[in-house]
Amino acid sequence: MNVREMLLDWLFPSNIYCICCGNLIDKSRTYALCDQCLGTIHWANDRTCIKCGKILADTERRRLLDELGEGQHLCADCRHNTHYFDRGFTCMQYGSMEKEMIHRFKFNGCAYMGDKLGNILLDKILLENLSVDVVTAVPMHSKNQLKRGYNQSALMAKVVAKGLGVVYNDQVLIRKQYKAPMNKLDAEQRASNVKNSYGIHPKFGCFQNQSILLIDDIYTTGSTADECSRLLKEAGAENVYVLTLAAGAD
Ligand SMILES: [Zn+2]
Ligand SMILES: [Zn+2]
Repeated sequence: MNVREMLLDWLFPSNIYCICCGNLIDKSRTYALCDQCLGTIHWANDRTCIKCGKILADTERRRLLDELGEGQHLCADCRHNTHYFDRGFTCMQYGSMEKEMIHRFKFNGCAYMGDKLGNILLDKILLENLSVDVVTAVPMHSKNQLKRGYNQSALMAKVVAKGLGVVYNDQVLIRKQYKAPMNKLDAEQRASNVKNSYGIHPKFGCFQNQSILLIDDIYTTGSTADECSRLLKEAGAENVYVLTLAAGAD
């Protein structure tokens, strides 16, 4: 914890309020979530896309695909588009409740939530038994990070790296230029928005034969994850896995 994080933890003590609804909880609660939120969050425990990790929608079309035995393990996006990362994993579906929780984490100075949410990510990835050499996070532009005081993805990534017992490297990817927030853009606009937004730090230009786990908060169209994965692969990474807290619907 840096000084700012310590100060925020003092102002907003962890483990006293549910990180999702804000209700009082006792300190022993898993992930600092109350029973109701633990039960209401749309966890990615059902069928997920074998490529990006999104929860697969239980639709008539999927049932038909199941019967035909065609592409039933891929989401609509991954059936039509290729991705640079090898596999993606997510912990929950990005619904209104999850959105509110992540919004509080990012915009309300609740840096302490990084610890709790990082543990959710860690438990998710431990189940996958992946061999990982380096954990890194999608970087923020320094201007934004200065304003917020922390990079939410980096806070979670540190917890994951520590839990996996591997190196955390927050300098490998760099955010080159400031771009408009992406939440109102469609897939095509997002893709062009991230183009040339990221780069690899020249000091960390070689990841030959390494497996990298990239952490981000939200997976929507996958454009950010793809661009960062493309760069990491260019730098020699053998495998790039993407782990996010929440992903959009199939
Ligand atoms: Zn709650
Ligand atoms: Zn997918």
